[in-house]
Parts: sequence; C-alpha cells; structure tokens
Amino acid sequence: MTTSVKNDVTITQPRQVEQLYAGVDTQDGAGVKLTRVLTHQLQHRLDPYLMLDNFKSDNPDDYIAGFPSHPHRGFETVTYMIEGRMRHKDSAGNEGLLENGGVQWMTAASGVIHSELPEQEDGAMEGFQLWLNLPAKDKMNAPWYKDFQDADLPKFVTENGTKVTVIAGESNGVEGAVTREVTEPTYLDIHLPAGASFSHNIPASHNSFVFVYRGGASIEDKRIPVKNMAILKNDPNADGVTIQAGNEDTKVILVTGRPLNEPIVQYGPFVMNSQQQIIQAVNDFQQGRFGEGA
Ligand code: MN
Repeated sequence: MTTSVKNDVTITQPRQVEQLYAGVDTQDGAGVKLTRVLTHQLQHRLDPYLMLDNFKSDNPDDYIAGFPSHPHRGFETVTYMIEGRMRHKDSAGNEGLLENGGVQWMTAASGVIHSELPEQEDGAMEGFQLWLNLPAKDKMNAPWYKDFQDADLPKFVTENGTKVTVIAGESNGVEGAVTREVTEPTYLDIHLPAGASFSHNIPASHNSFVFVYRGGASIEDKRIPVKNMAILKNDPNADGVTIQAGNEDTKVILVTGRPLNEPIVQYGPFVMNSQQQIIQAVNDFQQGRFGEGA
C-alpha cells in the first residue's frame, strides 16, 4: 500500500515551535516503565488529545507485567506498536495481537474493560499510546475497535526518500487508516533520511505537535532533540509545517487535531465533561455495567 508522491504541498507560512517538552518518566499498568510525553497539564493546550505515552525498553522487567484488566470510558485509545507483541482482549468480545508496525484503534465510548499484555518474554518493546477525546455527544456511544497490521496501513514515499505511514487523517493526498468527523485527527509516522525535509498542510484551527523518536529534527531552525515533543504554535496565517532531519536518519510522529473546546474532567481511565458523569462512570463500572472483565 505504498504510493509515491512529490511532496509538493504549498506552505505559505509554516508553523513555528512554541515549546519543547521532554516528558516525564513514570509507570502505569502493572509497573510498565514509560515516558508520558503529553501530560495532564497539556490537555487543554493540545485538545482534543489527552495523553501520549512512549514506551521503549530492551529489558523485559520494564514491560512484562503489561496492563491487566482495566476500564475506559469517554475517549479513544490509539496504540502504535513499533516493535514487540501485545495481546488485547476486551469486554465487547474483541481480541487481537498487535505487533511490529501495527495499530490498534479502540473507541471506548460508553465503556470497555480490557487487558493489554505483552506476548514476548525478551527483546525490545517500543511504541506509543495516544488518547484522543470524544465529543460530548459521542461519549456514550457503543464501543468500537479495529486492529491494523503494518501491511494494512496506508503509506507513501516522497522524492527525497521520506517514508510516511498515515495512521489517521490525510497527508499529501493519501487517506489514512482512520478518519473522524469531529476531531479530524491526523497521525503520521515520518521516517526522514539524514538531511531530508518533509512538508504537510495543517488547518490553522488545529492543535499540533511533533515527537522525535530517532535522530534529531528541526522546524524553522528550532532544534528538536530525540525524545522531545515540540508543540507547534497556533497562528491564524500558518498553513502547515516543514520538518527537517539533521545529519542522521530521523523518525518523528506528527499529530494534529481539531479542538473540541468542551470541559475535560478526568478521573484515571474515565474522561467525561462533568464530575456528575465521572461519578456515574465509577458507579456503572462497579456495578458491572461495562460488561465482563478481560
Ligand atoms: Mn487501556
């Protein structure tokens, strides 16, 4: 599913870097070590995104316990497995194996209970989990789920050898695996050869960020070191971004979306619009209204 494109998009005014963030090392699930790149205090700035975790380790002790049975309500989780194998089971009866280059898109909506458990005892595990909010009107819809293997994901290559996987949205005329009407997410994995650049149009109203996970990049001469997130400045006149690789091969993810501008109330794995809805979520979970555990 790889097509060739010219990457001749017109950018009249490129976005600048507003701020760099190195993320916070933490643990989640049953002790999985990870870096929380998009933290709680950035939820409003990066609306509709609620969280981005980056996990990367060669040490099984850091990941082996995984994420046993736990609930979610009110948003979507997008897990991108760059290397490794993770099995998913949920209360809606879905089960899937996520591996090297695969994506799992889960719309928790009114509620799921699921487990995410490594299916390997050694070797590297690396990937991202992104949380995308749902509009208020969709938070209590039925859950939805889909696995995409690496070969199922739309990809393109540009004339300078930049390889792009379009997980969500659209880039350079290539439609992604998933589209969403209200939040209009775009999620790109971009592999740039040393010295190469890549341009992508972003609607002025969208929030956007870039995370560098190999090499090093710059945007309008601002260096973004590896393992750093750059929030891109919102500017009513800016119509896109140009990402420039440094002197080594560079890999980044670029994420953009249309802000919901609705209240965000989070209690752990529940993200709703009011405290009352959170109390309801906790009650529904405790009374088994999310279905059987996984
Ligand atoms: Mn989960």
